[in-house]
Amino acid sequence: MAYKLRRRTFSAIIKAVGLLSLSVFFSLESQAASFASNVLCRPDLASGRRNELANKLRTITGWHDLSFDEHGALRLGKAAPSGGSETARNLLAAAVSGEKLMVLEDASNRADVVFCSVVEGLWTKDEDEKPPVFVILIDFADFSRVTGDRVALAAFNVGWGVLHEIDHVVRDSVDPKRAGEAGECEDVINKMRRECGLAERADYHFSFIPGTSEGILTMKLVRLAFEQQQPHTNKKKRYWLIWDANLVGGLKERILTAGFR
Ligand SMILES: [Zn+2]
Repeated sequence: MAYKLRRRTFSAIIKAVGLLSLSVFFSLESQAASFASNVLCRPDLASGRRNELANKLRTITGWHDLSFDEHGALRLGKAAPSGGSETARNLLAAAVSGEKLMVLEDASNRADVVFCSVVEGLWTKDEDEKPPVFVILIDFADFSRVTGDRVALAAFNVGWGVLHEIDHVVRDSVDPKRAGEAGECEDVINKMRRECGLAERADYHFSFIPGTSEGILTMKLVRLAFEQQQPHTNKKKRYWLIWDANLVGGLKERILTAGFR
């Protein structure tokens, strides 16, 4: 059951540079024969990466027994959740039992993947008999390059990135084109953050740190805003994440496009 990627416009998701040249073949036959879970790891997604992702998803969902099984299939928790986000649990439950297959691929250090993105795949044989397939590209390295306020870091990691892409697939949600908006996809992710007591992403797009956009600096520092309502006041406090866009990518886009496309 091999498939290859093909570029097809899927909502407003796919704008990454270089995807046209991307063609990936692999077999899912060694994985779940009948897709007991519709969220699967590619066979070459290292166990350390799977654990890293599962660990973040456990914290977000409160399902402390969530895991990837020996076939790379995402298994949700069977035990009652402890804390975490109900909205995230509902999204993952819809993803693993839905009609679309999602394959998780390690895209670390790829210049065309800014944190995470999703592309639609194409079965090479018997497409009519198989579910629609989407490949979620995860640049684990990008997440390690982010620094900033601790409050914001808790609201922006590989778990949040993958949930963002899953929401695109499950709900066909889109990201905003204009700066200053989180967008309908991040609105849902922000609801999950609220349920976890975390800061919310204030903007889908990142921006240059003032004074650093011009010149010949080898670093292109950019920032992304998060905010959180302060207890007992009507005020929201702003928190920032910072990274070097020369390393993470996204500078070639017309708008400075944040991760989680
Ligand atoms: Zn997106």
